[in-house]
Amino acid sequence: MKVSVIKDILSANDEIALQNRQLLDKHGICVMNVMASPGGGKTSLILRTIDALRDRVRIAVVEGDIASTVDADRVAKKSVPVVQINTGGQCHLDAPMLRLALAKLPLADLDLVMIENVGNLICPVDFKLGENLNVMIASAPEGDDKPYKYPGIFIAVDAVVINKIDLLPYLRFDMPAFRKLILGMNPDVHIFEVSCETGQGTEDWAEWVAQQIQTKLK
Ligand code: MG
Ligand code: ZN
Repeated sequence: MKVSVIKDILSANDEIALQNRQLLDKHGICVMNVMASPGGGKTSLILRTIDALRDRVRIAVVEGDIASTVDADRVAKKSVPVVQINTGGQCHLDAPMLRLALAKLPLADLDLVMIENVGNLICPVDFKLGENLNVMIASAPEGDDKPYKYPGIFIAVDAVVINKIDLLPYLRFDMPAFRKLILGMNPDVHIFEVSCETGQGTEDWAEWVAQQIQTKLK
């Protein structure tokens, strides 16, 4: 019984995700779902991406949070449109929530919507939103064993951003082994090594995002 209830919830969600996607396609907007653990650097990566691309890409941000507006406030300082979704305790965003957020954005004037999902490596993967790209951040201090613990998200994403590489000298983190493990699970994934603190690697990441938008608009 329980399993079929969950399936119904997911298929209702998928239906609305498809409608979100159709709306976004109509406006030629690329949507990126950014997932990570709490503290992995989702907001920081979004801010770096805005800085790198703002001269050539019209960007908006949807901030998913269980409660506060702290992250949305940081994004708003960049003078890009931002919509806050407070999930009221739910540990992931879903398609109906994104639909409400999209209604508040100037869709005719956008190329890219970045969604900061709730900090969680498990259930955000199961809830489609209508996105084109799924991205996860795996920050180095979280350890190089993350793919063993949370294989689902590493398999599902288009890109893995390894953040906080400025801290590598202080960590036991085997980068070659980590990359090999991820590629073994997901051979098509793009891997980026960045520090959102120093900016290292964030230009390469942003170039990839710009390319994805171009591909989408073709
Ligand atoms: Mg954040
Ligand atoms: Zn959840």
